[in-house]
Amino acid sequence: MNGITTVFLDIDDTLWWFSRNSELALASTFKLMGCAEWCRDYDAFHDHYEHFNHELWQLYNKGEVEKEVLEVLRFEKALEASKYCCDDIDELASAMNTCYLNQLVRHHNLMPGAVELLQYLHNKGYELNVISNGFKGVQERKLEAGGMNRYIKHVILSEDCGITKPRPGIYDYAMQVCGAKPSSIVMIGDDPTTDIAGALNAGWRTIYFNTRGIDCPEAHHTVSSLLSIKDLL
Ligand SMILES: [Mg+2]
Repeated sequence: MNGITTVFLDIDDTLWWFSRNSELALASTFKLMGCAEWCRDYDAFHDHYEHFNHELWQLYNKGEVEKEVLEVLRFEKALEASKYCCDDIDELASAMNTCYLNQLVRHHNLMPGAVELLQYLHNKGYELNVISNGFKGVQERKLEAGGMNRYIKHVILSEDCGITKPRPGIYDYAMQVCGAKPSSIVMIGDDPTTDIAGALNAGWRTIYFNTRGIDCPEAHHTVSSLLSIKDLL
């Protein structure tokens, strides 16, 4: 890829193995909060949580729900759907969210090859930045816990500019911060909409990391492992 000087990477499920770490954090939260005492079917609770979490994140990415509402409501709806029927449902949901976020950063699984790729790109002289809709504090802790922050120059979070991927403003903000032209930037991410479509609109080049078998023909390149990006950059 000629003329590329700057690489933007997504964090969750691109560098940091969010789906794995989240599964572990959710299971610990369920146990620590004593949910097994009233709910015998963890798998059903898990599926409800995933469903409502996904639904709420889609609204959050469109700017239609606040972070604080998303965090508690995903647990409240999962509890409701699991037939939890005490009056303290909102307090329990809020306590579960706090517990889940604390558990989340205790699990440090990275996507295979993440650190090796960052090291490689860093040694090749690329400027490495991350761009994410994830929450401030949480995202920074992930980069630190994974030992990845030493390679990252700028951490661009939607919370800092008030605009989520894939809306154009966050890409403009990212270019202002790093001072790079669109033609010199490549975006690496696992989401066809928030990562690839958004970056294409901004005039960036794109590498789609296909982790779930969903095609994204618009991307300039598609890889199924992080280390195969070495052949492109
Ligand atoms: Mg992602």
